[in-house]
Amino acid sequence: MDSQLKIFNSLTREKEIFIPIQSGRIGMYVCGPTVYNDVHLGNCRTFVSFDVIYRYLLHKGYTIRYVRNITDVGHLLDDGEDRMAKGARLDQLEPMEVAQKYTNGFHDMMRIFNTKSPNIEPRATGHIPEQIEMVQSILDNGLAYEAQGSVYFDTLKFIKKYNSYGKLSGRIVEDLLVESRDNLKNQEEKRHPSDFAIWIKASEEHIMRWNSPWSIGFPGWHLECSAMSTKYLGETFDIHGGGNDLKFPHHENEVAQNMGACGHAPARYWMHTNMLLLNGRKMSKSEGNTISPEELFEGKSQHISKAYPPMIVKFFMLQAHYRSTLDITDEALVAAEINYKKFMEAQRIINSNLVAQWSSNEIGPKDVEVKEVIRNIYEAMDDDFNVPLAISEMHQLISIINQCKNNSEYASQISQGVWKMICTEFNIFFQDIFGIQEQGSSSDGQTTEGLMQLIIELRKDVRERKDWAASDKIRDSLKEIGIQLKDSKEGTEWGEI
Ligand code: AMP
Ligand code: ZN
Repeated sequence: MDSQLKIFNSLTREKEIFIPIQSGRIGMYVCGPTVYNDVHLGNCRTFVSFDVIYRYLLHKGYTIRYVRNITDVGHLLDDGEDRMAKGARLDQLEPMEVAQKYTNGFHDMMRIFNTKSPNIEPRATGHIPEQIEMVQSILDNGLAYEAQGSVYFDTLKFIKKYNSYGKLSGRIVEDLLVESRDNLKNQEEKRHPSDFAIWIKASEEHIMRWNSPWSIGFPGWHLECSAMSTKYLGETFDIHGGGNDLKFPHHENEVAQNMGACGHAPARYWMHTNMLLLNGRKMSKSEGNTISPEELFEGKSQHISKAYPPMIVKFFMLQAHYRSTLDITDEALVAAEINYKKFMEAQRIINSNLVAQWSSNEIGPKDVEVKEVIRNIYEAMDDDFNVPLAISEMHQLISIINQCKNNSEYASQISQGVWKMICTEFNIFFQDIFGIQEQGSSSDGQTTEGLMQLIIELRKDVRERKDWAASDKIRDSLKEIGIQLKDSKEGTEWGEI
């Protein structure tokens, strides 16, 4: 079942067989949020996508150091104001309070979406000395210059030396040379419009500032990821990820800085997630078309007609490949809700042990078909983490699970070993890799199932004692909370109404 993992590398624009630098180990860096306001659903999509990638790599047995940073300085707005300073101004807080407040909010949301924490979550403001050192190295290598206390990356010299600027974003040098999009006020200090600041002298009113050999100032936004990825993953590591809106200028400049400082590019595989759209347009704060996760969970978004709980929203996100755009619509959410319920029902059947008794002691005629479906799920995941294809293969598995439940004759055509395999693999993908939990439960659905089996057992006892009033009370009370019991000669089953 171990097919070879292929990853689409943004650098080469090709799917490549994934070979880590060190066998069995992976260093992975993903650009984290700028914590000056609440994350929106678009941000969440990117982090959920990387979570599934991380979980699948873990499942494949790799030891991974997953680093995802927190940007809390240097990311400037179009008008040149630092995003953190703007957050502080609007919320009337210290910039560090702003960073803490929205970092906490981000963590809460990541927990709600049941994503795993990275191994290291470094903050830009906690790594100012490392960034200053990197600026110095780039200066020492002659690829940056100082002007009025700021330090700029010299793109023309870099292009002359390495002839590679623009490789990641696919932009031709002429395009790149028009402007650097770094939103700096002092554009006239640059030798060339495409140069970008790696250290910025703070103006009088700028509140986030540190001493450096060049001025009291702050680092350029792109620098933090170069410095922190090098510190925690080394000069070259395996995977660097982020949303595809970060390809230029952020990632392009990161590559330039790493090459400028130590002579080679940081990552071997660059992975970029595609955008969550609303009415065909990228969901973004600056466009003013964001939906917050809370709005969607509470049914308070003007764009979506009703409330959707987190796991259904997550399931909706997983139904598009990470490199495809995804439009958030009522129809797509309803489809996700229906599919989520099918998965939950299948999980219930698996946990109920009903089918296990019917499966065969010997090799069953359906075994081969089942194994093929499971192989297809792995192949889909190994093909650049094709989660939607894996989900559609899992629907095949669900169809087998349902037939087993409805038809003991069908179930007897599957061996006990293969039925066990169905149960194990279903749970591995649904819970461990996609990270879906039963809605409203912090555990994995097995607790609910266990509790329901206990209630069914107790009801059986009262029925045997012919205590019909107690039996009806149990059934009616469950109905009130949305759970229906169905009695048949095989026993009692439960399901959501
Ligand atoms: P920011 O806080 O703006 O730096 O963004 C954090 C992450 O969210 C980055 O990796 C962005 O690429 C990603 N992102 C921003 N908007 C969207 C969107 N609409 N869909 C998917 N990812 C997004
Ligand atoms: Zn970054």
